[in-house]
Amino acid sequence: NITLHYALRLPGGLWGQSATLKAVNGVSFHLNRGEVLALVGESGCGKSTTARLALGQLAPNSGEVRFEGVPVPVDRGPEWRRLRARMQMIYQDPLGALDRRLPILNQIAEPFDIHRKDMPKAERLERAAALMRSVGLRADQATNFPHELSGGQRQRVVIARALALDPSLLVCDEPVSALDVSIQAQVLNLLDDLRQKTGFAALFISHDLKVVRQMADRVAVMYLGKIVEEGLPEEVFHNPLHPYTQALVSAAPSPRGTTRRERIVLSGDPPNPVNIPTGCAFHPRCPVAVANCRKEVPQLVRDAGRAAACHLVHTAGGSALRPAPNLA
Ligand code: SF4
Ligand code: MG
Repeated sequence: NITLHYALRLPGGLWGQSATLKAVNGVSFHLNRGEVLALVGESGCGKSTTARLALGQLAPNSGEVRFEGVPVPVDRGPEWRRLRARMQMIYQDPLGALDRRLPILNQIAEPFDIHRKDMPKAERLERAAALMRSVGLRADQATNFPHELSGGQRQRVVIARALALDPSLLVCDEPVSALDVSIQAQVLNLLDDLRQKTGFAALFISHDLKVVRQMADRVAVMYLGKIVEEGLPEEVFHNPLHPYTQALVSAAPSPRGTTRRERIVLSGDPPNPVNIPTGCAFHPRCPVAVANCRKEVPQLVRDAGRAAACHLVHTAGGSALRPAPNLA
């Protein structure tokens, strides 16, 4: 039940005006050992902030993150460092995540330098070389600097470094969206292989439903800092419950062999976390909104592994969920 709001200073700040960016508004989810949970949604929906909260890189206003049964501290003390060795992150921009002045082998060995000071230097480098091989980099690339590699190779370096300490959670924030489409599949396949070999769980953040379909065991859809739908990928993509998910899915290219849905075009302003609509935050853009939607906040109702937050999805009186009627 995590909430994170930031105070913003507006240009009119001369008069002490301020505004609040409501990045995350009561998000709850769990991630099982070895599972891949995809967080999907438009940019600005709070996916990346949720990821940083999960890792204890940001402190929530309220709510709690637990990892392997332990509350994740945000003080960057010894307990945080211990947990952070077990939870690693892969970013969208591998160049920004790497040190431009250091050969890649040394960067892959860095987690050992920080967390395994007991390990002899030669062994650290040997292990880093093994990690390089495991992500498909060549031994002769060990002395290369990041700028000498392609984008896909750089992301392989980041992945190798993230896996050095054998983490049980990998948070992947748009890990392939900065890469050429032809390279994306290679990096996704690599992540998939490594997961099968080492068994890490992943919080996989993406706006690209194609990528999510390939990677996710479970999907959570976010809109304006809330989870609005959750379920297995085949359920969420083939039988979306929430009107927002219905629109997202209708706008994505359908895989071969499925019938093309009519595209649902959303009108209204793009979501703005500084100015969240009343009631259901999606109501100004929702094609099937009813009068109550601007007043009452729909709760996320869970039933049989699925969840949705929409007044039209709950059946009256019961917990069963049915898709909102869509206009397509
Ligand atoms: Fe649309 Fe209302 Fe459902 Fe929100 S609660 S998604 S506005 S129908
Ligand atoms: Mg982001």
